[in-house]
Amino acid sequence: MLDRRAKEILVTPLKDLLQPGFGPPSTMPDLRTILEMTDEEELDCDQTCELLDQYVEGLERHDNVGTLFPGVDRHLKRGCPDCNAELKALQAAIAAADSIP
Ligand SMILES: [Zn+2]
Repeated sequence: MLDRRAKEILVTPLKDLLQPGFGPPSTMPDLRTILEMTDEEELDCDQTCELLDQYVEGLERHDNVGTLFPGVDRHLKRGCPDCNAELKALQAAIAAADSIP
């Protein structure tokens, strides 16, 4: 037989769950942010370097490199100094090659 106090204990968790700001709705934004940060895989420097010449060729053709090489694009836009320097060097090499008659 349940006395009044026992009933209150049983009912309290349900009332807490129904209150706005408690439970999944308030935790969803954080979870969503984490998912958005990890849904596209970012490559490391070695992987980026391997694809970088193709990435630059894509840029030269005005391809949508962000879609074709999302990992490379993400790595470069994150500001990796080594790979951005390599990108500039490749672009300079292509520009120099294009200027040769
Ligand atoms: Zn890098």
